[in-house]
Amino acid sequence: MDRKRLEAIVRQFLEAIGEDPDREGLRDTPARVARMYETELLMGQGKDLREALNTVFTESYGGLVLVRDIPFYSLCEHHLLPFFGKAHVGYVPRGKVVGLSKVARLVEAAARRLTIQERMTEEIADTLYETLNPEGVMVVLEAEHFCMTMRGVQRPGTITTTAAARGHFVHDTRARDEFFSLIRNKKPY
Ligand code: ZN
Repeated sequence: MDRKRLEAIVRQFLEAIGEDPDREGLRDTPARVARMYETELLMGQGKDLREALNTVFTESYGGLVLVRDIPFYSLCEHHLLPFFGKAHVGYVPRGKVVGLSKVARLVEAAARRLTIQERMTEEIADTLYETLNPEGVMVVLEAEHFCMTMRGVQRPGTITTTAAARGHFVHDTRARDEFFSLIRNKKPY
């Protein structure tokens, strides 16, 4: 990412909306905003998602592995506004499992880029499916979009749910039901 260019553009943006970028409160804003986009909000931009899953173990466990309620923050590519929520990622291994924290890392990498919720859901599912070659993968994202709450139809609290199924989850309704009942049941104990 070209941070210097980003900084100059933020300054221009401030000028274009009629602000004085040299007034006290705005003096450091271009540098701060450029750094924030590069090191945080868009840090997954252009990254290969497979790198997030670099710890794979051989393991005979063949039940469902579900990592639930992974919080994420992303930026919608249509409005450059945040959408944020929770990801639920499940898979049934076939000889290989991945470190659980790597699942959260995969969600993070898929979120920290310009995207849309639909594509993000599919990218998480595809990366997991291609890396582990499991029986199946199921991914559900639930998110609130600022482009729906702050502008446009202005409906705060509206939740968009997307789902992607790979492998046996595509046709095995019992496996899907197990996944959905486990993400709906908010307390595991
Ligand atoms: Zn949007």
